[in-house]
Amino acid sequence: MERMYPPRLTPGPLPRELEEHLRGLITSEATPTIPVEAPFDATTIGHVPEGGQSCVDKAFSLAREAQRGWEDTPHATRRSIVRTFHSLVLKHRELLMDMVQLETGKNRAAAFDEVMDVASTARYYAARAEKLLTPRRRQGTIPVLSSTVEHRYPLGVIGQISPWNYPLTLAISDAIPALLAGNAVVSKPDERTPFTALLVTSLLYDAGLPRDIFHTVTGPGPVVGGAIAEHCDYLMFTGSTNTGRILGETAGRRLIGFSAELGGKNPLIIAEDADLDKAVDGAVHGTISNSGQLCVSIERIFVVGSMYPRFVDAYVQRLQSIRMEAGFDWDVEMGSLASQQQLDTVTRMVDEAVSKGAEVLTGGRARPDLGPYFYEPTVLTGVTKKMELYRHEVFGPVVYVEAVADLAEAIVYANDTDYGLNAGIFAARDTALAAAPLIRVGGVNINDSYSATWGNIDTPLGGAKDSGLSARHGEEGLLKYTQTQNISEQRYLQLRGPRSLKRKTYASLMTAGLKALAVMRR
Ligand code: NAD
Repeated sequence: MERMYPPRLTPGPLPRELEEHLRGLITSEATPTIPVEAPFDATTIGHVPEGGQSCVDKAFSLAREAQRGWEDTPHATRRSIVRTFHSLVLKHRELLMDMVQLETGKNRAAAFDEVMDVASTARYYAARAEKLLTPRRRQGTIPVLSSTVEHRYPLGVIGQISPWNYPLTLAISDAIPALLAGNAVVSKPDERTPFTALLVTSLLYDAGLPRDIFHTVTGPGPVVGGAIAEHCDYLMFTGSTNTGRILGETAGRRLIGFSAELGGKNPLIIAEDADLDKAVDGAVHGTISNSGQLCVSIERIFVVGSMYPRFVDAYVQRLQSIRMEAGFDWDVEMGSLASQQQLDTVTRMVDEAVSKGAEVLTGGRARPDLGPYFYEPTVLTGVTKKMELYRHEVFGPVVYVEAVADLAEAIVYANDTDYGLNAGIFAARDTALAAAPLIRVGGVNINDSYSATWGNIDTPLGGAKDSGLSARHGEEGLLKYTQTQNISEQRYLQLRGPRSLKRKTYASLMTAGLKALAVMRR
């Protein structure tokens, strides 16, 4: 049954009834003591409880009990719940975007990206889950004698730990395929953005998901997240590489599957045959989207040969005219950073680079006149290996740009990083298609900075090197939440041969048979 929600939110504390309803969805008896701040003006919009080990224990116990029934629920019922959820997300999109903006300080277009992602992921997996999970006949080793079928069953209770930068998308889009595959989920949103996660979960319950199939526990990362990692049957983590390593150790000790979607230091290459206007537009988009607090943001740009001065002039000019503001207006191009902590990190890294000789082409300063955590889009050049931001993710609207002699050199620089998440290349189509596979990252965008790989969800997307393990999207994005089971039947004759036949004779016959099969199946 669908609840009544306010159509929109206004700056300031959440409406009391909404806050109480959302808090009621948290699996916790603790008193609400964690304040949730609105970065636009640093006011408190509400409080959530600081959960601990006992809340996580309770969430898993209830989820395990409920999961058995959910696993046996027909595909059609699960599909229908997710399709209803899809409609509710679109129906309540304005409210969802208001909540996302209140909790993160991002601009409205970036908040809509989240709505669009959740809706398209729900639609995509609702349409495919049943087919992916239906037992699949595979080729037997010996025709007629062997038959083999691949079965899939749910793993049980999936643990999900997500960050604050995409609080709507990352709270639910990875959970949807897990639920469709028959699992329950225990989720920990970041303590800075819990209300967005709770609001979208409320829509999932309204769509018909049984309450105990999805639990949310709020609280500090190491405590609540650590406890989830100790309980779950598979861990879906999105966040920093440092936390990913800690959780990976737990997953390794417990021998559970682990998806880690981690940080990046993403390059953009502008080739000499690129369309200049498109390249500038794409670079600006990759710099300012979500105020640069996007795992797939562009932080390094390598421009080939004579394109450099033309590109840099136009790119810097465009960034200087960006409309930055606090508020829900659709025309605002860039919002705030999400917290004092983010502002401190961005300021520290830019100041350190400048003190060691980097040149600021534009930006390089906070804008307290716009809001407490605003920071200008910033372009640096002359960045060297001595500077922290040469290799480390800034996670803000800060990019360095360098001229390179040719495409081969651009690719060498692009690959000179411990990360391997995302890259973009602006070039004539043939140039880009030839260069793309040489960039060692999980996703390469041709004539785009990041949206193409994120938006085309039929292909799996994950990080290489220190950017992660496993992938989301595509078949893998659902099948990773299942256990494969090989059910094989050997008819008439065992693969080891009849007992009456001498081993040596059997080996000769088998060798001849394998040779014949190789010819037949060539
Ligand atoms: P973070 O690792 O500090 O926090 C992410 C989540 O993990 C939060 O919910 C946090 O409470 C929890 N957590 C923190 N320490 C924990 C611990 N010891 N045990 C268990 N849980 C713990 O990440 P962050 O800095 O808040 O988020 C930004 C990072 O996330 C950036 O590096 C960004 O690139 C990355 N990110 C990656 C993707 C992707 O898809 N690859 C998407 C978004 C963000």
